[in-house]
Amino acid sequence: LVGRELKKQDTVVEVGDVQIGGKKLVVMAGPCAVESEEQIYEVARRVKEAGATVLRGGAYKPRTSPYSFQGMEEEGLKLLHQAARMTGLKVVTEVMDTRDVELVSRYADILQIGARNMQNFRLLKECGLSGKPVLLKRGLSATIEEWLMAAEYIADAGNQNIILCERGIRTFETATRNTMDINAIPVVKELSHLPIIADPSHGTGNWKWVDAVARAFVAAGADGLMIEVHPDPANAVSDGAQSLQPEKFARLMEALKPIAQAV
Ligand code: PEP
Ligand code: MN
Repeated sequence: LVGRELKKQDTVVEVGDVQIGGKKLVVMAGPCAVESEEQIYEVARRVKEAGATVLRGGAYKPRTSPYSFQGMEEEGLKLLHQAARMTGLKVVTEVMDTRDVELVSRYADILQIGARNMQNFRLLKECGLSGKPVLLKRGLSATIEEWLMAAEYIADAGNQNIILCERGIRTFETATRNTMDINAIPVVKELSHLPIIADPSHGTGNWKWVDAVARAFVAAGADGLMIEVHPDPANAVSDGAQSLQPEKFARLMEALKPIAQAV
């Protein structure tokens, strides 16, 4: 269902007035985690000003350690939803468990399936059944084939509103948090009709490299980007090292314009 054989034309995922996979580059930006009302409102306002159309922020966080901050859960979902509605943004947020799909769907415009859950087949199916657009991140060690098969589970549940997200994979390289696979853009475009975006924040793990990699992915034909932005990265509860300050994010958005226009 997600392959090009059955459907030649590109899928455009419509989220209200935001179209992912259309002509316009879609930027989803926001903090790694929703931390407080002030934090999420501030980020929402700043990324909207800069031209983002979707607000990201985790309320359920898949942390490596069980002792790290796990997210604000429903309170975080509410704040995210309010901040987005006040600024005219859409919401994308991660759902980690089948038991939370219904609750998260009440506050989210797009359900995010994280890299660590890419092959959680029950979750894929449940998100498919929800009827909400789904953002499917590539698994840490998943091949493109496995990733597309995971998308197939969502489509098989009756939902073709799927956005793929390249967020870097595990390689022998340790200088960066992950290795961004730029090849995934043209390869997925050839194999599938689904839109594909890139997340250079998790892909690099360092805000200094986000800019260059974001520009490269747009030039390669990505339909959008997911970027972590925090008003005070040094004091972020998670992923501060890879989060852009709002001013830097605004500058990146300006730099992307001519590139997006040229592709
Ligand atoms: C995230 O986007 O917040 C996240 C945890 O990303 P990933 O699943 O790609 O690690
Ligand atoms: Mn993060």
